[in-house]
Amino acid sequence: MEDCLFCRIARGEIPSNKLYEDDELLAFYDIAPQAPVHFLVIPKEHIESCAAVTEENSEIVAKAFALIAKLTKELGADSFRVVSNCGEDAGQSVPHLHFHVMAGRPFAWPAG
Ligand code: 5GP
Ligand code: ZN
Repeated sequence: MEDCLFCRIARGEIPSNKLYEDDELLAFYDIAPQAPVHFLVIPKEHIESCAAVTEENSEIVAKAFALIAKLTKELGADSFRVVSNCGEDAGQSVPHLHFHVMAGRPFAWPAG
């Protein structure tokens, strides 16, 4: 999508601090980290949120989770939290599917 912030980051039009990139996925550090380690994993394809995941496009979600497992291992994070905010009331501010991956501090439950 032309004006989508994360599509623009995926296309390299807006710089990001990247951890990983391939043809389908990008992982980059969050600009406003909420934990000592806080990065985002996004599909390069524009999917609006978890609510727009379908049988047809869901393969990328499995790939994103495999990447999360690999990157957290590489970073030495045994405990971590994966969050995807879906919709305004859940705190989604960028309407492009992304998984927050946070580590390096304890996390409360239930989430706020
Ligand atoms: P959401 O609020 O949609 O769950 O998550 C969006 C995340 O994107 C936020 O944690 C925010 O800090 C991060 N973010 C917003 N704009 C940028 C940016 O330009 N670069 C990076 N690296 N992160 C961003
Ligand atoms: Zn997008």
